[in-house]
Amino acid sequence: MKVAVLGLGIMGAGMARQLVAKKFDVAVWNRDVAKTAALSSAGARVAATPAMAAAGADIVLAMLANDDASRGVWLGADGALAAMQKDSVAIESSTLTVDWIRELAAAAHDRGIAFLDAPVTGSKMQAEAGALSFLVGGDADLLERVRPALAAMGGNIAHLGPTGSGAMMKLINNFLCGVQVASLAEAIAMAERSGLDARQAAAVLSAGSPGSPLVKIVAQRMLDRAYEPNFFIPLMAKDLSYARQAFARAGIELASADAARAYFVDAERAGMGQKDIAAIVELLRRGDGAQE
Ligand code: NAP
Repeated sequence: MKVAVLGLGIMGAGMARQLVAKKFDVAVWNRDVAKTAALSSAGARVAATPAMAAAGADIVLAMLANDDASRGVWLGADGALAAMQKDSVAIESSTLTVDWIRELAAAAHDRGIAFLDAPVTGSKMQAEAGALSFLVGGDADLLERVRPALAAMGGNIAHLGPTGSGAMMKLINNFLCGVQVASLAEAIAMAERSGLDARQAAAVLSAGSPGSPLVKIVAQRMLDRAYEPNFFIPLMAKDLSYARQAFARAGIELASADAARAYFVDAERAGMGQKDIAAIVELLRRGDGAQE
C-alpha cells in the first residue's frame, strides 16, 4: 500500500516512521524541508509538494497544525487533493473544526476521492511507538479498507459515526484535556504558594480521584520544569477555541474552556509558544497568571 504523509511535526514524523518501519511504501512532504531528512534516511521518499507526495498514493494522510494549514495543503496551489487518483483515500488526522472537515470531505467527494476524518489521541511518545488511538468519522467499509495503515500507527481504532464524528469527538476530548491542564497548573501553584511540599501534593492528587493519566504525566513535568515539547502551547489554545465554537453551536457556553484558553494564549504571548503545555504553570509561578 502506498501512503503519503503530509506534515512531519511532532506527531506526523512519528506516524510516518511507523509506516516506514512496517514496510508501507511511504512518501512524505513537509513545509520545512529540514524535517524530512530523518524520514528520508529511514527510507521514505521525500516529495517537493503535497501534490507530488499524493500522486499515485492509495492513502494520503495529513497531520497539520490547524484549519488554515489543512486547507492550504489539501486545496491550495500544489495541493494534494487535485493530484490524487480516483479510488484513493484522503485521511485528515489533524485536530480541526467539524465545519472544515465537512467542507474538505465534500471537496474530496466532488473529485471522486473517499474521505475519513481520523484525528488521534496519544501524544509524541505514542506516535513514535505506533500506539496512537484513532477517532474515525466516515464510512465504516472505507475504514476497513484503510485499517492496516491506521493499525500500523495505533491499534485502538474507534469508528464514531459519519463524517465529522471523529473531529467532534476529538474536540470534546481535548476540551477536557485543556481544562485539566489549566486546573492542574493552578493546583500546583497553590500547593507551592501555601507552603505545602509540591511533590507530596502532586503525589496525593495523582493517587486520588483527580489523578487522570494526563494529570499524572503533566504534574511531573510541571514539578520537574521539563518543558521540551510533546504538545505545543499554541495548539492547545487552538483546540480550546475550536471546541468553544462547536459547543456554542450546540448551546453550551464553555466558560471553563475560556478560562483555560486564557492561560495558553498568555503563555504564547509570554514567549512560551515553543514549549510544552505543562509550561503554563510558569505564569502562575511568576504571579502574572491570566486569572489574577
Ligand atoms: P507540530 O509539531 O507543530 O507540527 C505541525 C505541522 O503542521 C508541521 O508539519 C508544520 O510544518 C505544519 N504546518 C503548520 N502550518 C502550516 C502551513 N500553513 N502550511 C503547511 N504546513 C503547516 O504539531 P503536532 O504536535 O505534530 O500536531 C499536529 C496536529 O495533531 C495538530 O492538529 C495537533 O493539534 C494534533 N495533535 C497533537 C498531539 C500532540 O500531543 N502533539 C496529539 C494529538 C493531536 P512546519 O514543520 O513547516 O512548521
